[in-house]
Amino acid sequence: MDLRLDADDAALQRRARTFTDDVLIPLENACEEHDGLTPDEAVAAKRAVLDSGFNAINHAPEDGGQGLDTFQQMLVEEQWGRATGALWDIPWRPSIPLARGTERQKERYLRPAARGDRRDAYAITEEHAGSDPSMVRTAARRDGDGWVLDGEKWHVTSGDVADFFLVHAHADGDPAKPTVFLVDKDLPGVRLVRTPKYTHTFVFEHPIFAFEGVRLPEDAVLGQVGQGYELTKDWFVEERLMIGARTMGASARALELSLAFAEGREQFGRPIVEFQAVEFMLADMAAEIMAATSMLYRVCWMAARGGTTRKELHAQASAVKLVCSETAGRVIDSAVQIHGGRGYMREQPVERMWRELRVDRIWEGTSEIQRVVIGNELRKRGAGTYTMWPSEG
Ligand SMILES: Cc1cc2nc3c(=O)[nH]c(=O)nc-3n(C[C@H](O)[C@H](O)[C@H](O)COP(=O)(O)OP(=O)(O)OC[C@H]3O[C@@H](n4cnc5c(N)ncnc54)[C@H](O)[C@@H]3O)c2cc1C
Repeated sequence: MDLRLDADDAALQRRARTFTDDVLIPLENACEEHDGLTPDEAVAAKRAVLDSGFNAINHAPEDGGQGLDTFQQMLVEEQWGRATGALWDIPWRPSIPLARGTERQKERYLRPAARGDRRDAYAITEEHAGSDPSMVRTAARRDGDGWVLDGEKWHVTSGDVADFFLVHAHADGDPAKPTVFLVDKDLPGVRLVRTPKYTHTFVFEHPIFAFEGVRLPEDAVLGQVGQGYELTKDWFVEERLMIGARTMGASARALELSLAFAEGREQFGRPIVEFQAVEFMLADMAAEIMAATSMLYRVCWMAARGGTTRKELHAQASAVKLVCSETAGRVIDSAVQIHGGRGYMREQPVERMWRELRVDRIWEGTSEIQRVVIGNELRKRGAGTYTMWPSEG
């Protein structure tokens, strides 16, 4: 078993690290101070994404993407996750269900989004529907040869910079027909309700949008009527793995910063790293990062190159998201502790990470929901998905 990265993957990882160091990290302080980027910074960052070939890493070249497999995407996102301010969201990755669109839909939405001329946001959650999307009240009713959409969506990440949405709604108001609709933001009836403030500083916003009698053409349906869960599940799996990647990138940076700080900071006449209480925090951080990263790499490698089935991947992605996000939560808490009072200052990356990594235990399914998925897998197919090591035979 050769676990080393091959030359191409290693080069890609280095390229993503350079992009993080040269493009994303220099924007961190400005993003924190101004709660986002200035128009000039946004234009320059977009140019850098295109110049570096990091636009739409998750889509096929024929759709304008970079055609990276899941393992390669993970390598890249892990490096981007080192940056605070959610600057990893600057390199756009159009939602994966767009790849299931018709040729016409791809031409209108996916390919311009891959080029960076358009941007999507995925709207599932509502005031009364979070962990259980079957409770969504957003409904699309047939009207002549089209649809009329009504409802309200919460926490729409990047909704401020998006110009179209993937809206998870019930066709005919029927919960048995969950369906994803492509909705242009400038259509009559699409209204920004408000833009709430969140714990973290995120380069973009998470507004609430209302859809009030929005008239949609027949071909606004992505995939089939009733296929909404399947499409949304594809999105969850991809995002859960990428959350694993980003939280591990952030954790690695937090460890490096904490080690450097502990070696340089002197109290009681010696570097604080010499106090075992501090050294043991660092040791736990290192060991936990190694464990979670090993799992992340394994699952992503198997997904891309080892023949994991769709069902297995769904079940394993939940374990990756659970373990990586919970690990990151512990790691960053120790990092703040090691930094002492400085760890509580917003100008310190570890402070920002401490606020930012909290949401990784909530969005794309809370930690409890990941356990529900894992529990379902155990009851349906037994423990093998988690306990067996895959083999060729
Ligand atoms: C910053 C941010 C960005 C987001 N971006 C998006 C986005 O772009 N698009 C989008 O659609 N959504 C987005 N979300 C929504 C996010 O996915 C939901 O917040 C999340 O799925 C949880 O739903 P909820 O907040 O309604 O909590 P609830 O579902 O009300 O859960 C509340 C608590 O109950 C627990 N719970 C619920 N059901 C169970 C159960 N069966 N077993 C055990 N415990 C349970 C939960 O784990 C949680 O602890 C975002 C959220 C945030 C905070």
